Amino acid sequence: MGNNILVVAETDDGAVKKTAFELLGKAKALAASTGGAVHAVLIGDGDAASLGAYGASTVHHASGAAFSHYNPAAWTSAVQGAIAASDAGVVLAAAGPQVRDGFARLAARLGAGLATEVTELRAEGGAVVGRRPQFAGKAFSDVVIRSAVALFTVRPNSFGVPEAGGGSASVSALAAGGDSKEKVVGSEEPSSDVVDLTEAERIVSGGRAVKSAENFDKLIRPLAASIGATPGASRAAVDAGYAPHNEQVGQTGKVVNPSLYIACGISGAIQHLAGMRTSKVIVAINKDPEAPIFQHATYGIVGDIFDICPMLTAELESA
Ligand SMILES: Cc1cc2nc3c(=O)[nH]c(=O)nc-3n(C[C@H](O)[C@H](O)[C@H](O)COP(=O)(O)OP(=O)(O)OC[C@H]3O[C@@H](n4cnc5c(N)ncnc54)[C@H](O)[C@@H]3O)c2cc1C
Repeated sequence: MGNNILVVAETDDGAVKKTAFELLGKAKALAASTGGAVHAVLIGDGDAASLGAYGASTVHHASGAAFSHYNPAAWTSAVQGAIAASDAGVVLAAAGPQVRDGFARLAARLGAGLATEVTELRAEGGAVVGRRPQFAGKAFSDVVIRSAVALFTVRPNSFGVPEAGGGSASVSALAAGGDSKEKVVGSEEPSSDVVDLTEAERIVSGGRAVKSAENFDKLIRPLAASIGATPGASRAAVDAGYAPHNEQVGQTGKVVNPSLYIACGISGAIQHLAGMRTSKVIVAINKDPEAPIFQHATYGIVGDIFDICPMLTAELESA
């Protein structure tokens, strides 16, 4: 395969997801060192040509009914087709549920190496090196993939969205997932007006200390709303029924990578840290000054969440 870089651009309700712009910005910087061109494969209906403003020279567009819901076979075929059409040696996609599923299939089909959940990418000696957290974020490994196609999934919010430039991309249509034997008739998403945890820039999470679902609604959700954050929870809070499972952060919940993570009454167990340790700024509120979360916090507030959270919410709402 060649030295072009292909970015998988996902859509949500007809809009290109911000993770696509983030990855294109990084791909453009990498391609400046490795010498290839940047291509994108846009899955679903959306403005393909607009990806040119972020560095894509060509967009391979898979649109139509086969891509209105995630269909594993159609999705995998489309990305495989785009890899062949773009002569890509490196493929980048945002680490999310669909990509996690689709990239495992692609890796098997292509005999390609796959590095998941990388948080940094750099060019070195003509190759792309991915840095990924290991052992719940206690260590990092640098991964170089030697197979003809190298697949990387990247944690959202790792690089930031670059300024849009003036470029425009040429668009070519991809065949619409012809080999799918599955038919997805619909999908249901939880109704929510906040950004999904995995892509959120700001998160406010509550732990066991919250004590009830009513308190979660009274303390955590208003604090989150005051800064446009997405609410999250520890497993203890979820198991106790204070918050739904789709809000759980951690090893058996969602892995998040926001700019700001506020942990309210969360001790900092290793399984929770596994899901949020790469957050850029961590604020911990805990009444126990010895709580392990303080070892990982950028800012710590020793105090009772029943006092601190309402005070913070009022301050932030009036700011
Ligand atoms: C296989 C496995 C997978 C797991 N996966 C996950 C996972 O995905 N996510 C996850 O979160 N956990 C996970 N866990 C559970 C994890 O080990 C911890 O039990 C859990 O994270 C604890 O949640 P917590 O911090 O809310 O509760 P606790 O550990 O009970 O901590 C509560 C904290 O609140 C503080 N506190 C109490 N009252 C107040 C107050 N009024 N004001 C301020 N602070 C107060 C206490 O000092 C304490 O530090 C997993 C465990 C296992 C074994």
